[in-house]
Amino acid sequence: MKSIFILGALAAALLAVRGGAAPTNLPPAAVTAPHATNSTDMKFPLQHTEAEWRKILTPEQYHVLREAGTEAPFTGKYWNTKEPGVYRCAACGEILFKADDKFDSDCGWPSFSEIAAQKKIVTRDDFSHGMHRTEVLCANCGSHLGHVFNDGPAPTGQRYCINSAAIDLAGTNAPAEKTGAKK
Ligand SMILES: [Zn+2]
Repeated sequence: MKSIFILGALAAALLAVRGGAAPTNLPPAAVTAPHATNSTDMKFPLQHTEAEWRKILTPEQYHVLREAGTEAPFTGKYWNTKEPGVYRCAACGEILFKADDKFDSDCGWPSFSEIAAQKKIVTRDDFSHGMHRTEVLCANCGSHLGHVFNDGPAPTGQRYCINSAAIDLAGTNAPAEKTGAKK
């Protein structure tokens, strides 16, 4: 009888701790991107099953876009690109960034000071790898793109640090098609 009472008290205490550990109002991100929507309610217009994404994307793209992978610095195809055009989401084709906003950050990944248009991306807190970063995702399909930091150039002060594998550069007047043959 006594042990049952103790178990019950333990369970109640555990529930109280769990309740306390799951606040309904999350604290604001330490790094906020003023032109992005910080969303904890991750519902995206374009939905695919993970099996479908595996068919649509190359293994490298799948790892970055759907598993929040990070390509090694100075290895992606766009880290040093200066060609004009627009960068589309490699998963869904949405225009996310403009080459005009790309700058040399020397970090080894394509870096942009601005988003192509408001509401093209969403951000959320990322506490992985023992750090607090702000993750950047495509607002249309929810794919992981990279992270945003507050050490970018004026006037925005933002540095959208994006994986090359997550974006496709197309000329401004190029058709919206996604080409399957990249190599
Ligand atoms: Zn997308």
